[in-house]
Amino acid sequence: MSNRTVYLETFGCQMNELDSELVQGQLEALGYRFTEDDARADIVLYNTCSVREQAENKAMSRVGVISQRKREGSAVILGVLGCMAERDGRDMIRRHPQIDLMCGPSELDRLPMLLDNVSRARLSEHAQRLSLDERVALAGKRSRRSKALAAAEDSLEILDLSRAFNPDLDAKSGGRSAYVRITRGCNKFCTYCVVPNTRGAEVHRPPDEIVEECRQLAERGVIEVTLLGQTVNHYRYTHGTALAEGGREVAQVGPSLNAFRTGRFENPNGRATTFADLLQRIHDEVPGIQRLRFVTSYPRDFGDDILEVIAGSPRICPYLHVPAQSGSNRMLKLMNRGYTIEEYYEFIDRAVRLVPDVSIAGDIIVGFPGESDNDFAATVELLRSVPFKNNFIFKYSPRPDTAAITRFEDDVPDEVKRERNNILLAVQAEVSEAVHARWVGRKVDVLVEQVSKRDQHRVPNAAAASPHPGSVALTTEGRALRAPESATKELSGDASPSFAMPSIQLSGRTAGDLITFFDSPAGIDPTSLIGTIQKVRIHESGVLSLNGSLTRGHERRS
Ligand code: SF4
Repeated sequence: MSNRTVYLETFGCQMNELDSELVQGQLEALGYRFTEDDARADIVLYNTCSVREQAENKAMSRVGVISQRKREGSAVILGVLGCMAERDGRDMIRRHPQIDLMCGPSELDRLPMLLDNVSRARLSEHAQRLSLDERVALAGKRSRRSKALAAAEDSLEILDLSRAFNPDLDAKSGGRSAYVRITRGCNKFCTYCVVPNTRGAEVHRPPDEIVEECRQLAERGVIEVTLLGQTVNHYRYTHGTALAEGGREVAQVGPSLNAFRTGRFENPNGRATTFADLLQRIHDEVPGIQRLRFVTSYPRDFGDDILEVIAGSPRICPYLHVPAQSGSNRMLKLMNRGYTIEEYYEFIDRAVRLVPDVSIAGDIIVGFPGESDNDFAATVELLRSVPFKNNFIFKYSPRPDTAAITRFEDDVPDEVKRERNNILLAVQAEVSEAVHARWVGRKVDVLVEQVSKRDQHRVPNAAAASPHPGSVALTTEGRALRAPESATKELSGDASPSFAMPSIQLSGRTAGDLITFFDSPAGIDPTSLIGTIQKVRIHESGVLSLNGSLTRGHERRS
């Protein structure tokens, strides 16, 4: 067992957030403790992302700061995890020889061993004389072992399965929300994207393992699960083809891009578990999961079978994050997205028709090489035509190890990218406002996540928002009092509160992922509502959020 202290910072996507959560659970089970302060840590780990240049630059600057600290004599262990380690490991160690370990996203199960290696190597004189190659090997960088079968056969699943889940760790929704990965990697090779190179080919986990993980999370109090995959709706597991010793099903390589050309996946012999089947199974077999979400969806071949399961299952959220990336067929082709804009519109029409109150979000890349005024106009039209609740809009920047960087010149001037970006933001703001306005006057279910930023200063420890014995309550003047255990219990129970609690603004999300604000009732510990689902009547709407009030009969966290 180790008693060392770790600082872990995450850059980039939800997939990385989940990886960090799992790494933390894995290391905590081995006795490592975590700190929010890198200056107090024995080990500093950065879980990096290569998808956007900005995230890479930020991570590199953090590595630079710790490297400098080490040059000045600090004994801290510096580790780089994730996509930058996979893509750029050798070069990073050359630039920052202070880095002690590298660990790609497909190797995270080996992290404890790598940390152990570093400690032992430090004790050996030999380690001081290692060549660059030896240092990279010691640091854990292997050849692109995330090649499909290697990844399917390795013990990564153990990392997913062995999460040492600790509700107190996750401040979001008071520890009631969790991610569950169902696929790793991607087979699509969009020309601007580094993911197929850093995370490898698409590998699908066996459905029994996924359902079991959801069940375990529900038993520990999780009520919202988000299924993760780069193209999550392309999940499909064919039974009887990937078996370990003893007949246990193991992860298997996903189908190629062409396998999904039909709109509805036919499964006549029941030999496969489709994404629709998986959603249905989790919904039916784990009713404790009151909200089931999934990201990110691929627009192509999103079958009616999936949409019908969403529409017919009250605990599956009617929320689709389906990046279109551009409204122009010419751009979509250069991006190798594999669908036309007509197919995208057709999909949106079906989703709106089949799933009541469906909420749609997307991603757009602006200024991709060769984007003309006409191409851009087609993207503006896309934003005006689809009821997107929001779009994440990115200015194109060439990424190393992508097809686009070698094939295309980055020929849209930066000021044009910026101007187009601003136009899209303005159009999206109008569309978002109209989408939110439709909810005024309606009652919605809100999963309460936190005390709103506006009121956090009024509730000490609001960020942690732990409604446990010993938590902090407020006086009528908003002054903090540490509540005795019995008093705290009273506050969050049904009896009259011992402290007069002022009304505090809380925030959460609807099933369609719309941010919603409402005030806690006076006299109630606001943190007792975090992690519960509340009925809220909507009075007002804006570009980014809804405002409402709690209806009678609200529930508090037990
Ligand atoms: S679908 Fe395209 S953008 Fe998404 S992860 Fe795969 S290659 Fe990257």
